[in-house]
Amino acid sequence: MSNTIFDKILAGDIPVDSVYEDDDILAFSDINPKAPFHVLVIPKKRASRFSELSSRPVEETGRFFAAVSKVAALLDPNDNGYRVVINNGSDGGQEVEYLHAHILGGRKLTWPPG
Ligand code: 5GP
Repeated sequence: MSNTIFDKILAGDIPVDSVYEDDDILAFSDINPKAPFHVLVIPKKRASRFSELSSRPVEETGRFFAAVSKVAALLDPNDNGYRVVINNGSDGGQEVEYLHAHILGGRKLTWPPG
C-alpha cells in the first residue's frame, strides 16, 4: 500500500505539527500522544516496514537512525531519557504501513509495553 496517511502527510495533503524536517526525514507530533512528547519520524524515501531495511543500503538506514537521534535530542535537550519504538507488522501493532519511529518521553515510562 503506498497511499497511507503518512504518504499524504509527506505530500503535504494533510497538515501536521512539524517538529523537524531535512532532505531525508519528516518529524511531526503524533495526533494521539501517549506521552508528554510523542513524535513520529518518517523517511522521505518510502519503506512500508522496518523489516524492509535489511535489504536497503546501510547508508540510507544509518541516516534514518541518525535523524531519529537528532530529533530526540531536540525533544530531550537535558538528556532525561525517552523511548524510541518501531512497531513492525500486525503482531507488532503497526497500524500505518509506512515506516515510522515513535519518540516518546517527558515522563517516566514504564516497562514492559503491553
Ligand atoms: P503505529 O501503530 O502504526 O506504530 O502508529 C501509528 C501512529 O500514527 C499512531 O500513534 C497514531 O496516533 C498516528 N497517526 C495516525 N494518523 C495520524 C494523523 O493523521 N496525523 C498524525 N500526526 N498522527 C497520526
